[in-house]
Amino acid sequence: MEELIKRAASDLVESKYAIALTGAGMSTESGIPDFRGPKGLWTMHPEAERRAYQTYEKFQTNPKEYWEERLSSPSLFGNLGKVTPNPGHYALAELEKMGILKCVITQNVDNLHERAGSKSVLDYHGNAFKLRCVSCNARYDLEEYDLQKLRDEGRLPPPL
Ligand SMILES: [Zn+2]
Repeated sequence: MEELIKRAASDLVESKYAIALTGAGMSTESGIPDFRGPKGLWTMHPEAERRAYQTYEKFQTNPKEYWEERLSSPSLFGNLGKVTPNPGHYALAELEKMGILKCVITQNVDNLHERAGSKSVLDYHGNAFKLRCVSCNARYDLEEYDLQKLRDEGRLPPPL
């Protein structure tokens, strides 16, 4: 293991353009379940995987109903606002600050790379803390919107 770590370090230092590709395993240490691991979301709840695809279809065909359901049911991931970055997230942020790592490309929607201090992050599957306009692709911080209030006022989907 020690040898592998030394080799990884020297490969990183000698690289011309190092990037990190991360997935669910990156955040399991922060308490967010992965999908297909032994205790993964899809492993434990195969019906939830089917529902996830139906949910996306609902988002496309009936966005108002999608948002109402989303606001009334708990997130698959639990409360992402309460989890915190783990040493792996901080290590990647530190490598970026040192100029060794150029960017992080992540499948994770948990925002933990950003919260750990990484500046150049590509959220390949989106970000649970941002909204994206499906017409023009502009992104907005979720916190700019009071979704419960919009629901109460019958103004869903969120007007971007
Ligand atoms: Zn737009």
